[in-house]
Amino acid sequence: MISSISSNIPQAVTPDRAVGTIGAVGGGQLAWMMAIAAKKLGILLLVQAPRQSDPAVSEAADWFAADIDDASTTAKLADRCGAIAFENEFVDLDALQPLADRGVTFVPPIHSLRPLLDKYKQRCFMREIGLPTPQFCELSDPANFDIAALGGSYPVVVKARRHGYDGQGTAIARSAADVAEIWERWGRPSVEVEEFVPFESELAVIVSRDRSGSVAVFPIVETQQVDRVCRRAIAPAVISQSAIQQCTAIAHTLVEQLDAVGVFAIELFLTKDDRVLVNEIAPRTHNSGHLTIEACNCSQFEQVVRIAAGLPLGDVSLQHDCALMVNLLGLDGSSDEDRRRAEIAAMPDATVHWYGKASRPGRKLGHVTVTLDSIGEETTAARRDRALSVARQIEAIWYGTKARN
Ligand code: ADP
Repeated sequence: MISSISSNIPQAVTPDRAVGTIGAVGGGQLAWMMAIAAKKLGILLLVQAPRQSDPAVSEAADWFAADIDDASTTAKLADRCGAIAFENEFVDLDALQPLADRGVTFVPPIHSLRPLLDKYKQRCFMREIGLPTPQFCELSDPANFDIAALGGSYPVVVKARRHGYDGQGTAIARSAADVAEIWERWGRPSVEVEEFVPFESELAVIVSRDRSGSVAVFPIVETQQVDRVCRRAIAPAVISQSAIQQCTAIAHTLVEQLDAVGVFAIELFLTKDDRVLVNEIAPRTHNSGHLTIEACNCSQFEQVVRIAAGLPLGDVSLQHDCALMVNLLGLDGSSDEDRRRAEIAAMPDATVHWYGKASRPGRKLGHVTVTLDSIGEETTAARRDRALSVARQIEAIWYGTKARN
């Protein structure tokens, strides 16, 4: 099955079905999947996006052409919407604050976004509210860097404080000289440096909180990255009860301490001794939650729409024993992406979501979700192995001989 963008705009729903109009700042694939969820609920979704060719524009009821940090356009969007959600957190919070002060509802609210936009400040916030994180420090001059602050041994991970995504702005340093070289190469900025965690696996959890303070935690997902970019996700993660409890407690603490309303993604490391550490928080829907569209009764996208529209939280429980998501990243220009995509879409229980973006090597063009139900007495570990073998088949079709890890 292939779900892809349609071309007719605007797409009005009949007024008697509409329970509201909401806005989304951003026009990429996250807003696109939000717009599809809104349409199913009979809610009008308007987007603020830079280009008409952006994925969400064709699914939205209407759109405003502007960069996502253009708060004057967000003000116009607000005039037509009951609430505004963000696809991307790198908006101009100071410019949006006056709108919030005069009663515009943002999801998440501005005060919940503030501690999260800068990686160093985000880590400080986690420490303040008692969330477990890797050891970290701020570095503005390598001459003052003391490895003792990070447990005393290399490697360490150097991270840009803002605007990092998909591993851009993240580098591994194996020595003090490496740290200095990365800092020079990046133009001598203030950076966040943290201990390298030799994790057993990476996990992610999506948590949602509505305006009345009710919280719903989606099933915990195992994520696997290739070259620091998410390649695949499997739900539910096959982890101990203790790890599940740690993840769930982290999710509740985060949204309660942020006094948050909205959907938040928490990327986590699971250590070999079964401890869960927080890597990163994204105040929005997230790649690790894409499989919730097929796997859960209510997806992460429907959930943020419901919250923005003031509806009760949806049921986030799994509808299948297991779900797998594989990202389809742009190949080199000569590759036959349409044929490969059709071949993957014909696989059993597979749904391809194709964002309609121009192809560039490494760009997230789409993803595929496969649902898997248990066969006989299959254990959870065996089911996970089966999901991984389906992932390998998909990656062999999509990436061919380039499939790795
Ligand atoms: P981005 O925000 O660019 O996605 P992340 O901080 O999520 O950057 O890092 C991307 C990936 O790099 C992670 O998923 C993980 O695989 C690896 N990574 C990041 N920080 C660490 C760390 N402290 N220790 C080990 N691996 C890390």
